[in-house]
Amino acid sequence: MAGLIAPVARLIEEFSKLPGVGTKTAQRLTYHVLRSPVEDARSLSAALVAVKEEVGYCSVCCNITETDVDPCAICADPRREAARICVVEEPLDVLAIERTGEFHGRYHVLHGAISPIDGIGPERLRTRELIERVSPGGVEEVILATNPNLEGEATAMYLADLLAVHVPSVTRIARGLPVGGDLEYADDVTLIRSLQGRRAIER
Ligand SMILES: [Zn+2]
Repeated sequence: MAGLIAPVARLIEEFSKLPGVGTKTAQRLTYHVLRSPVEDARSLSAALVAVKEEVGYCSVCCNITETDVDPCAICADPRREAARICVVEEPLDVLAIERTGEFHGRYHVLHGAISPIDGIGPERLRTRELIERVSPGGVEEVILATNPNLEGEATAMYLADLLAVHVPSVTRIARGLPVGGDLEYADDVTLIRSLQGRRAIER
């Protein structure tokens, strides 16, 4: 950027790479950092690195977990039903469902949804891990709690087909969630209703 000294331009560029951050916001954040004490900048940069170095993926459910905690706290909890698995797109969706206190099974996190437009096929998601997890048997129900939008529906349909041979009951969370919406932004009551009203997938 013309007229900017190099370190400032560099930080603006880095902030601009974040989702939802345009050039204007990136500039505001950069000047905020410039005005802040150096300790704040150090602790921000340390937190950024720590989230990459100290967070890994649960080898069972693929949710994020601290690198030295595997399986994650939910997978390791004997009070959680191992025979019921709720499949979600993102780690934030786990938090949303946990907040309701309505679900006592375990999770599987796909880390995305099928989206042909963006070139995201099932091989880019944690689908293989899910099939491997249910294929030995013992899982009674898989609840497909992907988002109620085009990508989420496509993902649910794709998984329903694959899971049918391994799992007696494959269900989809009920409508009532706003179509095109995101699970993570749904209010608790709507989420609870959609879990309670889940139904078998017609194939
Ligand atoms: Zn886990």
